[in-house]
Amino acid sequence: MPSFKCKDIGMKCKFEVKTQNQDEIVPIIAMHASKSHSMPDIPPEIMEKVKKAIKK
Ligand SMILES: [Zn+2]
Repeated sequence: MPSFKCKDIGMKCKFEVKTQNQDEIVPIIAMHASKSHSMPDIPPEIMEKVKKAIKK
């Protein structure tokens, strides 16, 4: 199951998420970034980090 922790990309944030598959996790992270980190669009370099930080 893929999982992601915001702190793994250096954010001071306790958010973490687990989903059944990779396709589900990215939109959830995007929604969180938009709500909690004022990032309605995740910049490509951050998205790179996010994808690397997702544990499969
Ligand atoms: Zn966060």
